[in-house]
Amino acid sequence: MADTILEVRNITKCFNSKKVSVKALTDVSFDIGKGETIGIVGESGCGKTTLGRCIVRAIEATSGNVYYTTEDGRRVDFLKVSHTEMKKIRKDIQMIFQDPYSSLDPRMTVLDIISEPLKANFPKMSKAELEARVVEIAGKTGLNTSYLKRYPHAFSGGQRQRIGIARALVLHPKIIVCDEAVSALDVSIQAQVINLLKELQREMDLTYIFISHDLSVVEYISDRVGVMYLGRLVEYADTVDLYSDPKHPYTEALLSAVPVADPDVVVERLPLSGEIPNPANPPTGCYFHPRCRYCIDQCRETSPVLMDVGGGHFVACHRAHELKLKGIKYEAVALEAAGTTSRDGCPEVDHE
Ligand code: SF4
Repeated sequence: MADTILEVRNITKCFNSKKVSVKALTDVSFDIGKGETIGIVGESGCGKTTLGRCIVRAIEATSGNVYYTTEDGRRVDFLKVSHTEMKKIRKDIQMIFQDPYSSLDPRMTVLDIISEPLKANFPKMSKAELEARVVEIAGKTGLNTSYLKRYPHAFSGGQRQRIGIARALVLHPKIIVCDEAVSALDVSIQAQVINLLKELQREMDLTYIFISHDLSVVEYISDRVGVMYLGRLVEYADTVDLYSDPKHPYTEALLSAVPVADPDVVVERLPLSGEIPNPANPPTGCYFHPRCRYCIDQCRETSPVLMDVGGGHFVACHRAHELKLKGIKYEAVALEAAGTTSRDGCPEVDHE
């Protein structure tokens, strides 16, 4: 792995009301190397978005640490830094939001939207310099720079997401949390945006945390993948390893639902029975046991711990060493075929 840039340690998040306490995240830990992309997958409600928001401090974690190694080699806890330190490093960790339709203020021009973080971080920056920075980053993300005085409604979904990406990148961050960044887009536009993210990663030396429910997209973009279930990380491994040789029954079930483009390949579907349990009243033992086809008595009583089963493949399952689970040989070419990375060729206004 490349030099570690972020160490996520034991992140726990509880939402409390007068009547009930809901644990949305329990002891989530993993490391990210500089320039890597970590995919986080799981069903809706598994806590992946909450995790992303805790990491960027859009919401405060109840406990845990996020150690960030700064450019000058200092290791600071991003969740506990002083106000002065925060002002210096806040710009290094940014987020791209899920919905390109609601995440942009319709009353602001694209220029104002992209320049807003610059104004907040560099209040003395001249108007000319501000505009030059916006034009530079808008060009990098494939936006037509002569349309920057227009409002978001004049742009298509893919173009709006490029505006969101430009806003996240304008401060030249080191780490970007992409929260379902392409989920609201149709497949061909998804491919363009993902390929753009990959290009920008190479060009700007970015590290990504890519949160998505779509395992095909995550497989295509990620170096390593974490699988979450009911607020816990249940498996974490190198992407090829996790997809071809899953060790957790939940991962096996998720992978069996991934569409395969080759009609000659027959995949046995392993549908998950029942609903994801209520996090306010989670099951005993392994949280996955009510839906697990491999459940034994021990699973109902004892919660499995996330452990390394070899080669940096982490899994939280009592039976990880004995089960032979089915993976998939997913060729990550569909998105490449569907999308283009062309910045010049991308539609500029509402032509998608
Ligand atoms: Fe299934 Fe038991 Fe493993 Fe949980 S610990 S995933 S119930 S086999």
